[in-house]
Amino acid sequence: MGEILCIIDGMTDPGFCVEDFQNLASMELLRRQDNVLGGEPETLNCVLHLLGVKHLPEHLRGYLEALGCGIPVSKDDLILRGSWYRLDERGRYTVPCGAPAKWKSPAFRYYHLGQYKSLLVFPHMAGLLDQIVTHLPSGSETRNAGELIPEGSKVLREVFLQGWEKNRFMALWGQSAPAELPPFPKRAAVVCGKGIVKGIAKALGMELVPVKNATGDTNTDLVGKAEAALEAAREYPFTLLHINGADEASHRKNAREKRQFLEQVDKEVLSRLLASPHQITVVADHGTDPETGLHLGEKQPVFGRKEKG
Ligand SMILES: [Zn+2]
Repeated sequence: MGEILCIIDGMTDPGFCVEDFQNLASMELLRRQDNVLGGEPETLNCVLHLLGVKHLPEHLRGYLEALGCGIPVSKDDLILRGSWYRLDERGRYTVPCGAPAKWKSPAFRYYHLGQYKSLLVFPHMAGLLDQIVTHLPSGSETRNAGELIPEGSKVLREVFLQGWEKNRFMALWGQSAPAELPPFPKRAAVVCGKGIVKGIAKALGMELVPVKNATGDTNTDLVGKAEAALEAAREYPFTLLHINGADEASHRKNAREKRQFLEQVDKEVLSRLLASPHQITVVADHGTDPETGLHLGEKQPVFGRKEKG
């Protein structure tokens, strides 16, 4: 018998009600837990905290994305995320848009990560890490893209300006360099579709269990993921099952899609987990509000099996 930690990314929001989900409601609310611990309400921090990593190196984002996607990096590489946004005629960014598939440059290697996401690797530039300031595009209000110009590096500033096209631009953020994380203390398996969670798994020395149609979105193969986690739990003392679709639907500001996806998770995943003999814990990493499309950092509920009798 193993332990399965099921993280439902972005599950909660002001309209979230446990009673709407039959299997979740059959579990016991053990406590509400702070997963942010003074950091950003982001999957990266929250999942690492849920896995018991107390002290996080400051700059991890780009590196863990690279690890998760199998992108080769060296110790002294500087790695940044590039997120592509549509620009209006006044140079204000509006919504995410498709990233270019390719970009050739002598200064960096460019990788398209799907949809609006990209990753840039600058060889031998890790030494600049502490002097660079980047700006995360905020999802709530329309702002001028010029406010997001990176500071502290002429090279990054030039790349930002090169990426500024008529109708779209690339926000550079998440600067990082390869860093060591303490290995997870047990033999552990991870079932997930989201790149950053795959990166966390690799960085902590956890085994990634491949699931063919795990997309990291609402179109994922939930039954396939649940069964992969149950099988892993027979072999590993600890299994992380990460489910991402509710967070993505919330970022699309689609409350209905989120709700339907959570109902599907309840029916197809939680029913299977609870029918098994394994120790089951269900938790959200952070909330994500489908009204604003933003993450929420308050304490998150932790559910365990109800004691019989
Ligand atoms: Zn999110």
